Amino acid sequence: MSDVKVYWHEGDITREERWKALKATGCTLWFTGLSGSGKSTIASALEQTLVNRGVFSYRLDGDNVRFGLNAGPKILQETHAYDEARAKRFGLGFSAEDRAENIRRIGEVAKLFADSGCVAMTSFISPYRKDRDLCRKLHATAKPAPIGFFEVFVDTPLELCESRDPKGLYKKARADLAAGKNPGFTGLDDPYEAPASPELVLKTADLSVEQSVAKVMDFLRAKGILKG
Ligand code: ADP
Repeated sequence: MSDVKVYWHEGDITREERWKALKATGCTLWFTGLSGSGKSTIASALEQTLVNRGVFSYRLDGDNVRFGLNAGPKILQETHAYDEARAKRFGLGFSAEDRAENIRRIGEVAKLFADSGCVAMTSFISPYRKDRDLCRKLHATAKPAPIGFFEVFVDTPLELCESRDPKGLYKKARADLAAGKNPGFTGLDDPYEAPASPELVLKTADLSVEQSVAKVMDFLRAKGILKG
């Protein structure tokens, strides 16, 4: 089948009009850091703080997205009755290529949320710089004008993440490693590429969750994202 041409459709309401009615300017806060660093905890607390102030905000969470938009072949077969070939074609696994596609789609969705006027938050390890840079670029090249994209590096030492281990993932990965398997676990046998110039760094070894939230709120005020 030949490529179908698709054209960008400009709606009747401009982004300015849409944003004017809201208490904040749409943007994406891209939380990145090791598993257990505190991305979800801080983003959840921030979401609560913003919502309490009447700010339209939404958090895209790593695991949750894997159940829906970026579901794997097994979920597509079990919950959507996809046959094997279709499930394989559209489902996302955990290969390097599939992980990159996972992040790209999240970047696109965050951009749409931000365009709608939402303070969109993403909490994904997103270990590779090039994948995060692509998401930054998606926002920078958004039509009709760029959309704010702010990388929030949740900078927690590996040892501290591992001692927290809220989901027991490190324990399992360590057991796999000891058994001679390669779990492909970020920080253990897979690299984490720290952001080169994040807009914000949260060192959770020194900051309580409340202090991290306050730091992000100060940042949003300083950037003029929060109105009033
Ligand atoms: P991630 O989303 O980065 O994988 P989570 O937010 O799921 O990490 O887990 C972080 C864990 O660390 C939670 O159990 C949280 O309660 C705990 N924690 C302890 N101190 C802090 C802190 N100062 N900031 C963030 N999380 C903290």
